[in-house]
Amino acid sequence: MAFFEPDKFFMRISHIDIERDLLSLGLKHALLDIDNTILTRDTRELPRDVAVWLGRARDAGITFCLVSNSTQEQTMQELSERLDIPVVLRSMKPLPQGYLRGMRILGGTKEDTVMIGDQMATDIVGAHLVGMKAYMVAPLVGVDLPHTVILRWMERVMLGDQTPEPLTPATQQMLDEA
Ligand SMILES: [Mg+2]
Repeated sequence: MAFFEPDKFFMRISHIDIERDLLSLGLKHALLDIDNTILTRDTRELPRDVAVWLGRARDAGITFCLVSNSTQEQTMQELSERLDIPVVLRSMKPLPQGYLRGMRILGGTKEDTVMIGDQMATDIVGAHLVGMKAYMVAPLVGVDLPHTVILRWMERVMLGDQTPEPLTPATQQMLDEA
């Protein structure tokens, strides 16, 4: 497994096919990055397709834990309560502790848990350090913190010609109905 290579790459979290990309691969738990993966960084909104996807995945038996490096702990705590999804604050990604805590909360293992996030240097590398799968998504909005801009440039270089997974008919239908 290449450290800097996500196991799969998607345009948005809602493009992950719950059957093809999770259940059929034995993945039952997902650790979720927050900023720009499920919440827009600029307006702090949960896009409708993301909310619908989270609901569908939960209906299918997937459990979630938010794993955040954010310093806005109040906001993250409120989000956790609103979504009814536990949160690991001050996770210090890419260090392993946050991933391990999230896995423990969910009762998962590194074989049946996947990290989903938009940043190579934190979300993806950290998951691979722990030995779990990592799915990368394109950031929801193009507004990033200054230090992230440099990391984005590195990501483009490292992702190379890796292209997003195509939408499956089932996922397309879910999005059309959302
Ligand atoms: Mg992020």
